[in-house]
Amino acid sequence: MKVTIDGISIEVEPGTTILNAARQIGGDIVPPAMCYYSKLEGSGGKCRTCLVKVSKGSEKDPRPMPKLIASCRTTVMDGMEVQNITSPEVLEARKGVVEMLLINHPLDCPICDQAGECHLQDLAYEHGSDATRYEFDRRTFDKIDIGDKIQLHMTRCILCYRCVFVADQITNTRLHGILGRGDHSEISTYISKAVDNDFSGNVIDVCPVGALTDKTFRFKNRVWFTKPVEAHRECDTCCGKVTLWYKGEEVLRVTGRKDTYGEVEEFICNTCRFDKKATADWVIEGPTKVAHTSVINSNHYDTMQPLPVIKKNLVLMAANKVEFEKAVKH
Ligand code: SF4
Repeated sequence: MKVTIDGISIEVEPGTTILNAARQIGGDIVPPAMCYYSKLEGSGGKCRTCLVKVSKGSEKDPRPMPKLIASCRTTVMDGMEVQNITSPEVLEARKGVVEMLLINHPLDCPICDQAGECHLQDLAYEHGSDATRYEFDRRTFDKIDIGDKIQLHMTRCILCYRCVFVADQITNTRLHGILGRGDHSEISTYISKAVDNDFSGNVIDVCPVGALTDKTFRFKNRVWFTKPVEAHRECDTCCGKVTLWYKGEEVLRVTGRKDTYGEVEEFICNTCRFDKKATADWVIEGPTKVAHTSVINSNHYDTMQPLPVIKKNLVLMAANKVEFEKAVKH
């Protein structure tokens, strides 16, 4: 089926969503996604960040769709025309979505381990506004330990459900989900049971914000001071292909390998993630390719970055250094 997104046409298989058609084109026209995760069945349709405008329904029925639609949940029709970054209406709506997501999300990036690889941080930078119209108290929660390796900061959760899909689809004992409705919704481990199985650590990788963090990496370092390296090992449980995050000679953390959209290529097991932190455990393949616009690249990039990106990185790093040192002292 032929679909045109922001003036660029592509032919895709029937059943392809607009978001995935855009990903096949690539570049700036790809709508952002906070809840959709291509490796998790049924994900998407929750966060509304991927809203687009369908200005022509199809060749057969060219009427535009009356409202903006979620591109992760809408399949293409032959002859469909879609606007993303070329539609002021979409950009305005996206600003509103970011404001909504930030209603309860704390602005604690300076002490959050996800800073530098947080999708909400990027989204807020690109589409957010300086002020909020929200006048009520934010929801706050105590930190919760999910097992001995994972910590949940429910205060930061945007209820994207990705971790619930991991628990449901990747692990064999689901002890974790979302309880309550509306403003009362929260991640729960059902009567405080730990998510205890070989693949539970993947909830850390899929979480788009800093709600689920790796306790073995907490407050150890900022991601932009670490050096990601691709490595693999023979593993009986998972693919054994990972990214090692080095600081000097030390492996500070192990994660799945992530693609352009921040999704893991393959899920990894807890043994690879938490128990193999020595270089000798791994066959090193070489440095991970990191987009030159990423803050992770700040200390390593060899091509010139666009000025706004350099400015963003410098401001972030300066703010984070002071706050991070304070937090570590505590
Ligand atoms: Fe999404 Fe993270 Fe909240 Fe789970 S904890 S629902 S992955 S934001």
